[in-house]
Amino acid sequence: MNTRIEIDAPQDSGESPETTDYNWEYSPAPERMQVDIKDRYGLFINGSFRSPVSKKYFKTVNPATEEVLAEVAQAGAKDVDKAVEAARAAQPKWARLKPTERAKYLFRIARRIQERSRELAVLETMDSGKPIKESRDVDLNITAQYLFYYAGWADKLDYAFAGARPKPVGVCGQIIPWNFPLMMAAWKIGPALACGNTCVLKPAETSPLTALRLAEILQEVDLPPGVVNILTGAGATGQAIAEHPNVKKVAFTGSTQVGKILAKVCAKKGKHLTLELGGKSPNIIFEDASLDQAVEGIVSGIYFNQGQVCCAGSRLLVQESIHDEVVKKLAHRFESLRVGDPLDKNTDVGAINSPEQLKKIEHYINVGAAEGADMHSCPVGDLPPKGYWCRPCFFTDVQPSHQIARDEIFGPVLAVMTFRTPKEALELANNTPYGLSAGVWTDKGARIFELAKKLDAGVIWCNLFDAFSPFGGFKESGFGREGGRHGLRPYVAL
Ligand code: NAD
Ligand code: MN
Repeated sequence: MNTRIEIDAPQDSGESPETTDYNWEYSPAPERMQVDIKDRYGLFINGSFRSPVSKKYFKTVNPATEEVLAEVAQAGAKDVDKAVEAARAAQPKWARLKPTERAKYLFRIARRIQERSRELAVLETMDSGKPIKESRDVDLNITAQYLFYYAGWADKLDYAFAGARPKPVGVCGQIIPWNFPLMMAAWKIGPALACGNTCVLKPAETSPLTALRLAEILQEVDLPPGVVNILTGAGATGQAIAEHPNVKKVAFTGSTQVGKILAKVCAKKGKHLTLELGGKSPNIIFEDASLDQAVEGIVSGIYFNQGQVCCAGSRLLVQESIHDEVVKKLAHRFESLRVGDPLDKNTDVGAINSPEQLKKIEHYINVGAAEGADMHSCPVGDLPPKGYWCRPCFFTDVQPSHQIARDEIFGPVLAVMTFRTPKEALELANNTPYGLSAGVWTDKGARIFELAKKLDAGVIWCNLFDAFSPFGGFKESGFGREGGRHGLRPYVAL
């Protein structure tokens, strides 16, 4: 069922209260930078680009236009072998470098990313569909911040692990998803390199282009060959990296399903493993909260990167007494979201990363309605003729047993449920196989601390990411932490 919520017009508008359409018209504000993209990219092994032994290539597409952006090599088993061998050969020397020298390389990479950040942001948006204002203001900043942060640790490892003598683990296989392509690459290589390891990194098959630009940057800063190798390819390439006998540590961010496969692979071969997996994170909003602030936080959290965020607050638990008011405010806020061209600087909601992901989201939207929840969708204008688009929406009258309340959708879809007491809120919040993040909106500091202790979640929201704070999950959201001093631990043997 498709319900529109009646909204009061602004007090001074002089318009009749039935008017719900008071969105301002924006002129187009396209980002004009042209980014050079080659027709074809090879694999980055031992410091240079080379054609794959596999001889295979695949296409990467702009999800907002369905245009093919480039062909990218598909690394096969022999290519993985070569990359791992290059990383293994480079590792002892890299580890013996003076730590301050390793830091200098990381600082240089970070600075070069800053210098090329506009180009990288445009390319990230073209290859992944996320709005330019996010790639420009969030992804690129956090990417550089993580590298600066871990550069700073390189010569202070003895302080990070007081009393121990931290040693590198060796070659790290790092497999990343498509939702934060460049940022995830930085989260992975930053701590690994700081600790004296070398890497074989695989970006996701739908968003490989910024990782390949990163390879160019590694050449520009003269990073010794073999220290970071970048292999493009799909799941089979990822699995070959994880299974390779000379890969000593696997770091994975992606689906819980693949995480479970990798847990088996690594358990069999006794490899170190960290997993950053999915989530179905709750936002809990109490009647004493500042409602406008809470609604703003919740709405921006659910449309950010089209909801394709592992720690997105995709369940909203509202205290019963304020349910109607919160729903009204939510609907009002959803009305002003701008869905469309991700390269337009005014766009809030860009394209879904792939047709498969869009199909999955649409499936859940249909299931939500079929199970009896009420859908409220964002009434946007015409969408571009091509591309993978999804209007953000939220469901009310959701039961905890509904699929949209239980499964990770990974799209701009919010499930709203109610509670009466803090105890019930806590039970609802923890009633999930996941445990990545949670948000608490209340005026009472004591209540926040009390709930933070009892919520099964790796991160309790106060703010956005920061390189200083550890990030990671409980339960089926994975294990191990990235960020902060904790983020060094998986990359050292003590
Ligand atoms: P995925 O887990 O299949 O892909 C993530 C990465 O793992 C990609 O680089 C992929 O090539 C690689 N991969 C796939 N199969 C592999 C295997 N057997 N061995 C090693 N590597 C493998 O995720 P997806 O299919 O792109 O998205 C599916 C779902 O995953 C999404 O709907 C979402 O729920 C979840 N997801 C979570 C995150 C996150 O940040 N936690 C990110 C992306 C996707
Ligand atoms: Mn793409």
